[in-house]
Amino acid sequence: MRPPGDNETPVTIVGGGLSGTEAALRLAEWGHPVTLHEMRPQCSSGAHKTSFLSELVCSNSLKSLNSQTPHGLLKEELLKTGSPVIESAMEARIPGGGALVVDRDVFARRLTDRVLSHPRIRVERGVVDRLPSRRPLVVATGPLTHPDLVKDLTAHLPGGRLSFYDAIAPIVEADSLDFDLLFRGDRHGEPGRGDHWNAPMSPETYERFCEALLWGERVPPHEGVEDNPEVLRAFQACQPVESLVETGWRTLAFGPLRPVGLVDPATGREPFAVVQLRPEDAGETAFNLVGFQTRLRYPEQERIFRMIPGLGRARFLRHGSLHRNTFLDAPVLLKPDLTLAGLPGVYATGQILGVEGYTESVAMGFLTALVLHAAWSSDNPWNLDAARVLPPAESALGALLSGLRPRRSSSFAPVNLHFGLFPGPSGPSARRLQREQIVARARRAFSGWWTARNAQGSRRSGVGG
Ligand SMILES: Cc1cc2nc3c(=O)[nH]c(=O)nc-3n(C[C@H](O)[C@H](O)[C@H](O)COP(=O)(O)OP(=O)(O)OC[C@H]3O[C@@H](n4cnc5c(N)ncnc54)[C@H](O)[C@@H]3O)c2cc1C
Repeated sequence: MRPPGDNETPVTIVGGGLSGTEAALRLAEWGHPVTLHEMRPQCSSGAHKTSFLSELVCSNSLKSLNSQTPHGLLKEELLKTGSPVIESAMEARIPGGGALVVDRDVFARRLTDRVLSHPRIRVERGVVDRLPSRRPLVVATGPLTHPDLVKDLTAHLPGGRLSFYDAIAPIVEADSLDFDLLFRGDRHGEPGRGDHWNAPMSPETYERFCEALLWGERVPPHEGVEDNPEVLRAFQACQPVESLVETGWRTLAFGPLRPVGLVDPATGREPFAVVQLRPEDAGETAFNLVGFQTRLRYPEQERIFRMIPGLGRARFLRHGSLHRNTFLDAPVLLKPDLTLAGLPGVYATGQILGVEGYTESVAMGFLTALVLHAAWSSDNPWNLDAARVLPPAESALGALLSGLRPRRSSSFAPVNLHFGLFPGPSGPSARRLQREQIVARARRAFSGWWTARNAQGSRRSGVGG
């Protein structure tokens, strides 16, 4: 059945997080009336704290802006396409070294205002417990999708869903820290200057700290979830600090506590180990313990993390904890036009689709909007040649998408953008040069694609920059 107008097909989006907000604003700009369903504040996800759309549930960093890195490149591409979410992040930016670190309230408030004031978007608050029947439909309910919807969704899908837990780091209050024991500095930056504060550890302090971590009381694993080896494998990059110590005494000193590039002005040398504190807000009223995801019990976190120099009387604004993550088996379920197998006209986007990370979720929100718009502005929305619409695999956006495509391995883990997802030969030799070539090629591919889209868009008053 042909939708009523070229760009005017109403779209239903469930989930007003990062991906849902990006998709809603894009589609509304391209002419679609959008109904956006958000369960907060009536129902909390457990991790979200406000009723704002696009709330950042954990870190306030959207990672590197350096376009020689995959994350920097992805943000560069999104900005060139006019991403409302990444634009708002740039507007809410606070100091954070080379990363896009934001004041989370300013960021979410700005996007919420933008959505609420858009004439084509209607926001409906409340839990959606079953897949709405209207098409096109976008499910953007994220890693903490309401369990009722998870149940209904899985009943409709031919296969694959996994729930598991993810670990987050604690936040401490600035005026509870002893700054005389800390030094300022970004890694490889000018000593004594920068956005981070650093807690230097001697070998003795480090050893005592590791000992305490090793024996600290932990929240027991949820049977059948956290003890699932597939889950543990998937989140190796996010292992709790106490689990890292289990793998060896020096693991932390070579991992999140590595001192490389952090010279203590008091000694003129790199300490044995360093705990980095990253500001949570422009006023530096709170700091995040970088890399300190943990499954320790809350009182244990306070006891053990107060052993870190400068944190002896730290007040914890947030403790580290573990969270459920829900995602679909994208390589099995995602069709070339980004609809879900067995559910015509239904799109999933953001983290529930199988990407991992703020910027990746925003990127998927954009790509979903792009294909949905192309399909539902055409004569036959059920038969889109998506390859003509989507960015090339050589671009950062295309590389991210290729991580969700069918693969040889049968198990699927959520996808962070990294150089390995970009096509082309890879080898250990001349790695640096090769990465530069990947970046240069990505830039060319993206710009060719986006220029062509804009030309088409201005001819058909459709998608354009
Ligand atoms: C605890 C935790 C910490 C994380 N920390 C980081 C981090 O530090 N850095 C990083 O890059 N990524 C992090 N992530 C991963 C992920 O990138 C973010 O969760 C990101 O917000 C995902 O975007 P999204 O749009 O897919 O989902 P979300 O931003 O979570 O948005 C989903 C929205 O859907 C709503 N919703 C859910 N179910 C329903 C329903 N049935 N009806 C109506 N509304 C519903 C939710 O309330 C929410 O607003 C973290 C994830 C978790 C769970």
